Amino acid sequence: MTMPNGFSQADADRLSDEERHLIERRERLLGPAYRLFYERPLHTVRGEGVWLYDKQGRRYLDAYNNVASIGHCHPRVVQAIASQAAVLNTHTRYLQEGILDYAEDLLGTFPTELSQVMFTCTGSEANDLALRIARQYTGGTGVIITRFAYHGVTGDISELSPALGSGITLPAHARTVRAPDAYRLGAENVAKALADDVRSAIADLRAHGIKPAALLLDGIFASDGVFPDPAGFLADAVKIAREEGLLYIADEVQCGFARTGLNMWGFQRHGVVPDLVTLGKPMGNGQPIAGVVARGDILESFGRNVRYFNTFGGNPVSCAAAQAVLDVIRDEHLQQRSQRIGELLLDGMRKLAERHELVGDVRGAGLFLGMELVTDRTAKTPAATQTRRVVNAMRERGVLISAAGPLENILKIRPLLAFEQEHAELFIDTLDQALGEVAG
Ligand code: PMP
Repeated sequence: MTMPNGFSQADADRLSDEERHLIERRERLLGPAYRLFYERPLHTVRGEGVWLYDKQGRRYLDAYNNVASIGHCHPRVVQAIASQAAVLNTHTRYLQEGILDYAEDLLGTFPTELSQVMFTCTGSEANDLALRIARQYTGGTGVIITRFAYHGVTGDISELSPALGSGITLPAHARTVRAPDAYRLGAENVAKALADDVRSAIADLRAHGIKPAALLLDGIFASDGVFPDPAGFLADAVKIAREEGLLYIADEVQCGFARTGLNMWGFQRHGVVPDLVTLGKPMGNGQPIAGVVARGDILESFGRNVRYFNTFGGNPVSCAAAQAVLDVIRDEHLQQRSQRIGELLLDGMRKLAERHELVGDVRGAGLFLGMELVTDRTAKTPAATQTRRVVNAMRERGVLISAAGPLENILKIRPLLAFEQEHAELFIDTLDQALGEVAG
C-alpha cells in the first residue's frame, strides 16, 4: 500500500498489520491534512501520571505533551470533571458560581491591571478574540509576529502562523520579526535585534498605509525554536510597540501555568505586563478550556458594542477541571518543581553537550527546553536529519519528544510538570543513548 504523510517503505515495513490498518483508516476518514508523530506512529491507549501506554502495554515517558501538564488523568481533574458533569453542564448565560470562583482565582495569579477574563475553548479562539479586541481598541489592523510563529488555526490566526506550512501566505497587514535567537545573534544582541525589528515593522506597516494594532508573541517562541534567554529581552520591544500605540498580546498557550519554572506566566520572566494574555493547552489538563485575560479598560470599549457568547467556552465542567488544575499546581508545588526539575534537566543536557559533538546549544526555562543539533559547531549548520533520527530513537527507547524550528533541528522538550528526579535521570540517560546512536 502507499503510505501517507511521508512514511517511507522502510517505515511501513516495521508496522504491525493493526498499525498499518489504523493509518489507512485515518487517511481515508480524516483526509490528508493530519500528520502523525514518529516514523513508527504510537498507538496510545492509556495515560497515567508521566506515562503514556501503547496497545502492547509498553510505557513511554512523556516529555512532550504540555496539555495533560500536571499528569495524565490526574485523579483530582478526573474527579472534578465527573462530579460536575453529574450535576450540571450548561453555558455562560445563567448565573453560576463556578465560573466566577475560577475567574477570581485565575485573575489572582496576574498583575492587578489584568483584571478580567473571557473564556474560549481553544488557544486559537483565544488569539482570534484577542486580535479582534486589539483591533477594535486601537482602530488598526496591522499585526507583528515572529518569522516562524504558530498561534492557531482560525482563519485570521492561521494566516499569522507561518509554522503551519509553506501553504500559508502572510496577509498584507502582517509583518514578521526575527526570532530572538541568542545562539545565532549572540545573547547580548537579542533585545536590541528584537526591538529594532519591531520598530522597522511598525514603520513599514505605516509606510503601506496600515495602522498597526498588535504585537503578538509566544513568550517562549516554541515554534521558532525555543528561546528563553536572556530573561528580560522582550522589554524593549514591548515598550516600543506600546509607545507606537500597539497592544502587546502575550500568547501564553505554550508557556503559561508554571511551564517556565517558578513564574506562573512566561511574560513575568521578561518583567513586562501585557495588555492581553491568551491561555489554553494546560488550562484544563485536557478538558477544552482557554481564554483571554485583559486590562479592564480594553475590554470596556470592546464589550460596549459587541456581545460575546461562546457556547462551550467556560462551561461548568471545563471550569471545574481548570479549577482543579490551579489547585494541583499550588498543592503539589508544581511551580517549584518546574524550576527544580528543569534545572536538573538543563544541567544534564549541558553535560551531554560536552560529550556529543552534534549538540550546538542547550537552552530552557523551567520545563520548556530545547537542544539545537548542528553538524558543524563553528558554522552552526542545522542537523535536521539527525534531529529527526534522535526523536525517533528516543521514541523507540520509550521517551517522547519532538522537534521545533523552521528547519526542525531543535529538540523540543516539554516534560510534564509531574516529573520527579528519577524521570529526569531516565530522560538524560535515554537522550545520551539516542545521541550516541545517531552519531555512531
Ligand atoms: N498559540 C500557541 C503558542 C500554540 O502553541 C498553540 C497550539 N499549539 C495555539 C496558540 C493554538 O491552540 P489550540 O490548538 O488550542 O487552538
